[in-house]
Amino acid sequence: MPRSHFSPASYAGATSPGKHVALSRRRSSAKIRVPLATSRCHVTATLLDGKAVAKEIRDELGARVTNVLQRLGRPPALAIVLVGDDPASEVYVRNKLKTAEDAGMGVNLDRLPSSTPLSAVLGVVDRLNKDPKYDGILVQSPLPKSLGADAEQRVFDMIDPGKDVDGFSPVSAGRVSQNREGFAPCTPAGVIELLVRTKTPIEGKHAVVIGRSDIVGKPMAALLLHKNATVTICHSRTRDLPAMARTADILVAAIGRPAFVTPDFVKPGAVVVDVGINSVTKAEEAKRIFAGYPDRLQVFEKKGSVLVGDVHPDVAKTAGALTPVPGGVGPLTIAMLMANTVRAAELRLR
Ligand code: NDP
Repeated sequence: MPRSHFSPASYAGATSPGKHVALSRRRSSAKIRVPLATSRCHVTATLLDGKAVAKEIRDELGARVTNVLQRLGRPPALAIVLVGDDPASEVYVRNKLKTAEDAGMGVNLDRLPSSTPLSAVLGVVDRLNKDPKYDGILVQSPLPKSLGADAEQRVFDMIDPGKDVDGFSPVSAGRVSQNREGFAPCTPAGVIELLVRTKTPIEGKHAVVIGRSDIVGKPMAALLLHKNATVTICHSRTRDLPAMARTADILVAAIGRPAFVTPDFVKPGAVVVDVGINSVTKAEEAKRIFAGYPDRLQVFEKKGSVLVGDVHPDVAKTAGALTPVPGGVGPLTIAMLMANTVRAAELRLR
């Protein structure tokens, strides 16, 4: 199978079974057998190192950025719109700006106060759609509640599908669903890159995705399906969720609840992908989740908060492979945003 088939530009393709097996025997630097947390308990899971894979993806973009620069007279460029002052969004946007700059890409931030009416936000998107200086547009989610319950949907509806590098527009969702060329949402696209680049077999496996959001759960299920997994989607109304999850060879947790997936959800040896990013700020909760993980408790004591995924750290004793939090899916999301922006620029050159 050509290497390019695995590139971020072509996450939707199915794999060739014979060659996939051959590749899976090779060792990947991003798949390392190391403890996931300092613990007295026995850890069996292999670490799926999202940081390393994200770096690999970013490194590969270098030559493509230069190519666009030579042919277009400017590097691939991303326009970010940030409305309001949500502290988590500030951090995410700062990371995106820095990553784009480090990659030699163009990037611009339009900052709007939370009092901005929706019509004005839509006006900014309309201007960016028409501006040939930008290949990609990202409106940071969540938008302030004051803009109305359907604000995000209306903004995502407005983004030119050719610039929709976040993959949130209905056109992008349709293309992902139909396995056609387009932009998949960065988080699920990053998970697929992680699995493929760590030579984790997907074809024929039973994948269970917990979560059915438009930006993570549903596209995650579609992308796994396109890789020939048999996919089950679970949500808050699923009956006997642990039993359902235990049938998974690949379990993806995208729930938004700290340490929700405990070892009883996990078939021994399963691959567990933890999409969740939750900040725990209560001491009792931190102590409950990280009992036996003194290094994580030290982080809490030092900072007053500690990050935890949707998967309990004890799952490392049951799973065959697991993504850490932090350092798992998070870095991949930003790398895929860069990859989508470079591809948006390349598509203009066709
Ligand atoms: P949403 O809140 O939009 O969706 C959460 C999903 O989880 C829903 O489908 C919901 O079900 C389901 N769910 C909630 N509670 C339960 C439960 N008790 N049992 C079973 N299912 C449940 O979240 P997102 O999809 O946007 O994000 C999910 C997580 O991923 C969050 O932790 C978020 O921070 C993280 N995230 C991480 C990113 C990264 O870069 N690593 C990027 C994006 C998100 P129902 O539909 O029935 O309500």
